[in-house]
Amino acid sequence: MKKLKFSLIIFGSLLLVFIIVTMFNTLTLESRQPSPENFNGSIKEDHAIDTLSKAIQFKTISYQDRSKMDLIEFDRFISFLEQSFPLVHEELELEKVNSHALVYKWKGTDSTKLPIGLTSHYDVVPVLEGTEENWEHDPFSGTIADGKIWGRGTLDDKIGVIGILEAAEHLLKEGYQPARDIYLMFGHDEEIGGDEGAAMIVSTLNARGIKFDFVLDEGGAIVENMVPGVNQPVGVVGVSEKGSATAELSIEGSGGHSSQPKDRTNIGRIASAIAKLEETQFPADLKGPGEDLFEFVAPEMSFAMKYVFANKFIFEPVIEKSCSSSLHHLR
Ligand SMILES: [Zn+2]
Repeated sequence: MKKLKFSLIIFGSLLLVFIIVTMFNTLTLESRQPSPENFNGSIKEDHAIDTLSKAIQFKTISYQDRSKMDLIEFDRFISFLEQSFPLVHEELELEKVNSHALVYKWKGTDSTKLPIGLTSHYDVVPVLEGTEENWEHDPFSGTIADGKIWGRGTLDDKIGVIGILEAAEHLLKEGYQPARDIYLMFGHDEEIGGDEGAAMIVSTLNARGIKFDFVLDEGGAIVENMVPGVNQPVGVVGVSEKGSATAELSIEGSGGHSSQPKDRTNIGRIASAIAKLEETQFPADLKGPGEDLFEFVAPEMSFAMKYVFANKFIFEPVIEKSCSSSLHHLR
């Protein structure tokens, strides 16, 4: 009886220490959100909205089969940019690489500094045949409704092209000149690999020995309800990119006849190979940029989730498990 009482006291004290330590970690987790300065500029919102809406209406669609691409539409889009951003086209040097990939050079005051690059692309993926009816607004209408602009490219990635040019046009109007050269680079075939666009831009600039201090591409978005326990929108900054691999499985075997079915068919054999492949996933590990993301969002989480992330040393396996199932698509 005495022994049991003693064990209970030990257990109770350990539990108390555990609670104190984990609660302390949770309650002392400080917000790491920056406090942005107020923007006092005078970007013309109507112009920006109208231009993006119009940009969506060009059917600059990339197809795996390049012969299906309507390059006249791509030319029309380029003329549209010229009309919409007159100062950019007057003061920046525009080079068309491979006819449709665009490189704008904005001369800086200090040529000894390495330039920076801002990139984006203006091609979009096609609308899957038979799904046209599922769109609340036509994907190439650029409809403005319910406080949103609708259509292909609003997120990926005409928003990038128009956003960058809108900012440049605005700064030029104010007489701004950057300290270092800025290259604005817009591909036209990103959705099918970028071989004719981004890759050609890279080899063209490479051949001239141009090196960048940094290049900022699309990646990430402002997401809602994607990070567990966070109700506010989260600006997900993409600093790395997943790769991909394609596997082709083939099998050799003898045919058969339905009158004498075998236990194991060729289709069954290849199906189990596919199932095995699917079961062999990369091990989850919370480190690098993924870990950084949670360091910054954890203090903004609901109490329960904050408790889990503030005590990663205990809960890491749980976090990894839930991340690999729910955050697969978070690039
Ligand atoms: Zn994209």
